[in-house]
Amino acid sequence: MTAAKILIVEDETPIREMIAFHLHRAGYETLEAADCREARQLLADERPDLALIDWMLPDMSGLELTRTLKRDKEHEDLAVIMLTARSDEHDKVSGLEGGADDYVTKPFSARELIARIQAVLRRSSQSVEDVVSAGSLRLDPAGHRVTADGADVQLGPTEYRLLNFLMTHPDRVYSRTQLLDRVWGANVYVEERTVDVHVRRLRKALSEHGADAYVQTVRGAGYRFSTRVA
Ligand code: CA
Repeated sequence: MTAAKILIVEDETPIREMIAFHLHRAGYETLEAADCREARQLLADERPDLALIDWMLPDMSGLELTRTLKRDKEHEDLAVIMLTARSDEHDKVSGLEGGADDYVTKPFSARELIARIQAVLRRSSQSVEDVVSAGSLRLDPAGHRVTADGADVQLGPTEYRLLNFLMTHPDRVYSRTQLLDRVWGANVYVEERTVDVHVRRLRKALSEHGADAYVQTVRGAGYRFSTRVA
């Protein structure tokens, strides 16, 4: 595995160098930019995995830069952590709404910053790259494609997300409420029986490939994905 490449966008040189020093020591490759113009150049040339973006920059605010990056298809896989001296909730919310994946308030310790970086990189690599295999099934998140013994399984978007969640959390029982939170999102209002409808559709699609027994009903508890067929 190659080291993740991290772009540090911060106009205060001592802070930027201190961050680069600690990230280096933690095994990351680093790039440094003192303003948004330099940052854009490095983003285009070097394709970093993650950008640490200071809120207050001389040519454009870090929030604005984050917004434009997140709207740009070219940088959709880039993870962003915002750095700021502002600690109030309002700014935190606008940072996250602007598309930042996380937020670190100055002053922060190197240990805290690295923990946040690891968490964000773990989240983004899981959703983008890892192919998941279980039994005869193979799910490829990059291609949004599911196959059973090499044959394409046709799934709707919700069934795909449901299967993705179940395959990445095998051999555990999830209640309908837990599945709604994890697959549909905690803020979406959907009735619990919606889960049953999509599980039924998912099983039907899998049954054409003899793989429906992996999605198991656990009476009174919920659903479980397991290749150990009961
Ligand atoms: Ca600054």
